[in-house]
Amino acid sequence: MAGLWLLLASPAAGEAGTTARTLLTQASYLAASVFFILGLKSLTKADTARRGMQQAAVGMLLAIVGTLIVEQIVEYQWILAGLVIGTVIGYPLGTRVPMTAMPQRIAISHMFGALAASLVGIAEYLHQGARLDGVTMGALGFEVLFGSLTVTGSFMAFGKLQEFLPGRPVTFPGQNAVNISVFAATLGLWIYLIIEPGAAWAFWAMTGLAFLIGISLVLPIGGADMPVVVSLLNSYAGLAASATGFAIGNTVLIIAGALDGASGFILSIIMSKAMNRSFGNVIFGAFGSAPTASAKTAAGLTVKSISAEDAAIQLGYASKVIVVPGYGMAVAQAQHTVRELAELIEKKGGEVKYAIHPVAGRMPGHMNVLLAEANVPYDRMYDMDEINEEFKDADVALVIGANDVVNPAAKTDKGSPIYGMPILNVDQAKSIIVMKRSMNAGFAGIENELFYDAKTSMLFGDAKGSLTKLVAEVKTL
Ligand code: NDP
Repeated sequence: MAGLWLLLASPAAGEAGTTARTLLTQASYLAASVFFILGLKSLTKADTARRGMQQAAVGMLLAIVGTLIVEQIVEYQWILAGLVIGTVIGYPLGTRVPMTAMPQRIAISHMFGALAASLVGIAEYLHQGARLDGVTMGALGFEVLFGSLTVTGSFMAFGKLQEFLPGRPVTFPGQNAVNISVFAATLGLWIYLIIEPGAAWAFWAMTGLAFLIGISLVLPIGGADMPVVVSLLNSYAGLAASATGFAIGNTVLIIAGALDGASGFILSIIMSKAMNRSFGNVIFGAFGSAPTASAKTAAGLTVKSISAEDAAIQLGYASKVIVVPGYGMAVAQAQHTVRELAELIEKKGGEVKYAIHPVAGRMPGHMNVLLAEANVPYDRMYDMDEINEEFKDADVALVIGANDVVNPAAKTDKGSPIYGMPILNVDQAKSIIVMKRSMNAGFAGIENELFYDAKTSMLFGDAKGSLTKLVAEVKTL
């Protein structure tokens, strides 16, 4: 392969070499696109998701190799520097960042991707400027507009999730009107540039405003809604990459960008439904205005706590247990111990199922990934819609570090910020055991009446520690 590359890259290869290089590039782009599509398809099922990531990675490698041999590249030192710097940043991001910090990691990766798209567009404009035709200027302007707003928007989302920026919505009167006006002005500049590509002032003004829009779009949105924002920004970055492909005539960028844009868009719709956000609000950034405080508090309510010994008796003799994992399970890294406990219950004749809420944890699929890592069989994991009807038949619902996704206020309390969000019907189980460390709130920062329900017993402590005790106790039954 390296020999072929050197041969093709050498000036002596002449016209035949050029044709061969073009052919090789196009073939690798085609293969890359096929791998991207296969990767996305595999990602739709938990048991093939790992393979999906590998297929996508092979696709990306092919796309990079195909690009490195294109005729227009005359020297490699800057590309090499980019590869080294990218690896130095990307490797620790991929290996060291804990699963619980994945949403902010994804947000910062989008920022880098969008920055690349924007810079390509800016470089192309500096290179061609007034010589651009209307269509190319349209694609290039779109790329810079969406790329730039994704850069700052993703950075804001990263900051809110990493908590160095305030997670609460930052609002001011007339904010939506201001946002819409700025967006309209930016679109106006983009249209003007299509008519008059040489108007450099309009290009820089559009770029500057796009950076501003990214900030103002995310500012009024609360931390709890960040996953929808990150996913939506992902689709913007995809659109920007696709437009880059049109602007510079690169087919794999068009295809990969379109796939990225469409899948991010679909994921945003699924997530906004799961969090009960109207999608119109998501698109126009109108949601996230300061939520009305929950009307209900826990004043006067009492909590019943349970020992590991008593909880083990309930679990060991139950014929049906539904496990509800949440963010706390991820923090405690308790997934392996959960599986161990489930196996023990099954050995004693009980049935164990896992109920997965679409936004449990801190990213879509968070719980599935953790449970799969602990070798929990895929056919035991059920989506909310599949299992919600079964809670009423469950002897025990075992809630492990979940809070908002089991909060009945979403159904009953109109004053609650999560009112309307579909939740797991844990409150319908015959008995409920909740494992968490304290009475502290979850991500949405609100009280949870489930913990005060007459059927609920609280097993306080770190989830992993409590599960280890449960395993030991169930073994003695
Ligand atoms: P929550 O954040 O509502 O609650 C997690 C609970 O886990 C806390 O109440 C905490 O209580 C407990 N906990 C934390 N650490 C431990 C530990 N070591 N051992 C035992 N318990 C622990 O989690 P859910 O999964 O129920 O809900 C997810 C929330 O995150 C939703 O509001 C969702 O909208 C939001 N979100 C979801 C994203 C997604 O895509 N999945 C992304 C970003 C936000 P205590 O401190 O008392 O232990």
